[in-house]
Amino acid sequence: MNAPTQSLKGLDLHAEIDRLRKERNAVILAHYYQEAAIQDLADFVGDSLDLSRKAAETQADVIAFCGVRFMAEVAKILSPDKTVILPDMAAGCSLEDSCPPEQFARFRAAHSDHIAITYINCSAAVKAHSDIIVTSSSAEKILAQLPMDQKIIFAPDKNLGAYFNRKTGRDMLLWPGACIVHEAFSETELLKLKAQYPDAPVAAHPECPAFILDHADEIGSTRAILDFALASPAQTIIVATEPHIIHQMQKAAPHKLFIGAPGADGNCNCNMCPYMAMNSIEKLYLALRDLTPRIELDEQTRLAAKRPLDRMLEMASASVGQGDLGQRTTD
Ligand code: SF4
Repeated sequence: MNAPTQSLKGLDLHAEIDRLRKERNAVILAHYYQEAAIQDLADFVGDSLDLSRKAAETQADVIAFCGVRFMAEVAKILSPDKTVILPDMAAGCSLEDSCPPEQFARFRAAHSDHIAITYINCSAAVKAHSDIIVTSSSAEKILAQLPMDQKIIFAPDKNLGAYFNRKTGRDMLLWPGACIVHEAFSETELLKLKAQYPDAPVAAHPECPAFILDHADEIGSTRAILDFALASPAQTIIVATEPHIIHQMQKAAPHKLFIGAPGADGNCNCNMCPYMAMNSIEKLYLALRDLTPRIELDEQTRLAAKRPLDRMLEMASASVGQGDLGQRTTD
């Protein structure tokens, strides 16, 4: 694995990354949860659905994915001929870890009359066992295209699944996974903050537990939270998701105050994703220079994982009514 070394001292890393980006015909994709410096030099910053679409349509030869491993895997699944690099291969995800593929396969087999709708935050192997992948921004539209009596397993995020159960009136069977970042918000501290800023709306990601979502004025994907924060007439907004997204808000609306919702100790640092934080400008430079760490997938897993991802991209773009696409797609 690459590690920044003393030999990088004196290098203008931004200039070097620009040079390598051109030489390699590389595109740099970054998630909103990346550190500000990475967001600022990326060619495109977005949420999981945005980044999946960019990965599927890019003409670049190299995709430098500044996010976590499952996101870079999605890029490789959709663009197998591209070289996909991730600055730090150890950048995993607690939600992915909460859903081991073998256990998920056994769970599916035990509920063979259910289809599996799986949140994109999972391994390629779990995707390969799924019928449709969803992101937080596409899930509701996709669920609206399935018959209400369709039995569904929703994995791996129990909070996201519970939120969509409440919102859509479904009774999906939930895999008991969670994101350590969104689980760390404190209701008590949030209420203290709301008392301090009574006019500030709360925008929350649906990976948060219900006790946080119950206090939210807007619930949505990172993209939806960003749009809400910019469109709201409020001058102060409380943001309950990974706080690096505030960088984009502050750039677009420097006159507004965006406050990260607090964790249990009242300090929002505990809500920073430790996996996203593994990437750095130094590691991005080394990855572009050496074209490693590189995402590799066996072709059988890739093809099996691509099918539910393609289904997501189709259904997220579809203009169809409920039930029109509600047939099971795999075993
Ligand atoms: S914020 Fe949570 S769901 Fe997102 S990458 Fe980090 S651990 Fe995974």
